[in-house]
Amino acid sequence: MERTIFETEHEIFRDSVRRFLEAEIKPNVDRWCEVGIVDRDAFLKAGEHGLCLMWAEEEYGGLGVDDFRYEQILLEEMAKSGDPGFGLSLHNRLVGPYLGKLGSREQKARFLPGCISGETILGIAMSEPGAGSDVSGIRTRAEDRGDHFVLNGSKTYISNGINGDLFVVAARTDPNSPHGIGLFLVERGMEGFRRGRNLKKLGLKAQDTAELFFDDVRVPRDNALGDPRKGFYYLMQFLAEERLVVACGCVAAAEAALQATLEYVHERTAFGRPVAMFQNTRFKLADMRTRIDVAQVFVDRLVMERNAGRLTPEIAAEGKLFCSELEGQVTDECLQLHGGAGYMDEYPISRMYANARVSRIYAGSSEIMREIIARGMGLDPRAAAGLKQRRRA
Ligand SMILES: Cc1cc2nc3c(=O)[nH]c(=O)nc-3n(C[C@H](O)[C@H](O)[C@H](O)COP(=O)(O)OP(=O)(O)OC[C@H]3O[C@@H](n4cnc5c(N)ncnc54)[C@H](O)[C@@H]3O)c2cc1C
Repeated sequence: MERTIFETEHEIFRDSVRRFLEAEIKPNVDRWCEVGIVDRDAFLKAGEHGLCLMWAEEEYGGLGVDDFRYEQILLEEMAKSGDPGFGLSLHNRLVGPYLGKLGSREQKARFLPGCISGETILGIAMSEPGAGSDVSGIRTRAEDRGDHFVLNGSKTYISNGINGDLFVVAARTDPNSPHGIGLFLVERGMEGFRRGRNLKKLGLKAQDTAELFFDDVRVPRDNALGDPRKGFYYLMQFLAEERLVVACGCVAAAEAALQATLEYVHERTAFGRPVAMFQNTRFKLADMRTRIDVAQVFVDRLVMERNAGRLTPEIAAEGKLFCSELEGQVTDECLQLHGGAGYMDEYPISRMYANARVSRIYAGSSEIMREIIARGMGLDPRAAAGLKQRRRA
């Protein structure tokens, strides 16, 4: 189905992204998957091509382009090129905006130029061994000592965890309030800041996902982002866009799986005819085509809602829920249509299937997305319990 949201300049940009991925990323994918991490150089190359933090203001070296369609194109082309987990969109859209929107002029002047050139790689550290879905369960402490904070605790499953130079770290500033959390910029080399292992995982083999440890890390007050008591509210604000990033990537990954499968089922024969000619294959592919087209229309609309400043947490959650579940179903059915070949690493569908599994978990699991959507419909069990109590009283 023809998409209607892109203009000529977007298509020109898409071509340049394709060329960049072809020349700088694709040749390295297998090696990066073997070693479990991308070369830091990949971020520098992306910076040279103007692909890092495109939204950042020109005075810091950015392009000042906050049109989300450009990030969407980047996500789509990365998915098509067999993205092994290069954390560029995480750098650009999941972490960068914290600096862009909450950072002081001094913080932006200090950090943004390096992030735009790709010298400074970003990460965000919310999840802990004891707190993932439940952000209010964060235990890492940030003790206020006047001109600095002292951080103690640990984080886990942190993307760009090994390559990262600058982390937005969520830490508790008020032990008595579940929402008393601050966001702090923790820099590579700060005393007491350590990284753990690069964790082995099912998919996204080239993504360095690691543990981070903070032992009496002295973080200058100048490295606090915004109000150190309002971190919980900041996180809730920024998570909507994070979910849109994931939704864009998921629908593009589903499309890439479908294309790879269409090619395969035409080539592969069984019982004297191409696998594509079995009714089951044609019906499955027709269903997938339909679901992906429907999802794409929805995601394109969400991108335009975001550009108009109207992306709500509930609608972003719907996008993330639908597209991550779709990616899971499509990659599973596509692998099935490959037969045994689909289980072999040499066929791209194998990597796509493994990569897809995390989409339903990170950036808020499908269950948490359903919670957000249901609460938006007025189905909030906490409010219902309060009402019951008030009625009894
Ligand atoms: C590859 C990878 C990269 C990641 N990168 C980052 C990163 O860069 N930064 C970061 O901070 N984190 C990152 N994460 C962590 C990720 O965000 C969490 O794994 C995710 O939020 C889920 O938290 P959890 O793993 O603690 O699961 P839990 O919260 O322990 O959930 C376990 C199960 O319980 C369900 N559940 C929990 N609460 C509810 C509820 N209220 N109702 C119904 N079901 C519920 C969940 O849906 C899930 O099925 C990453 C994770 C992975 C796997």
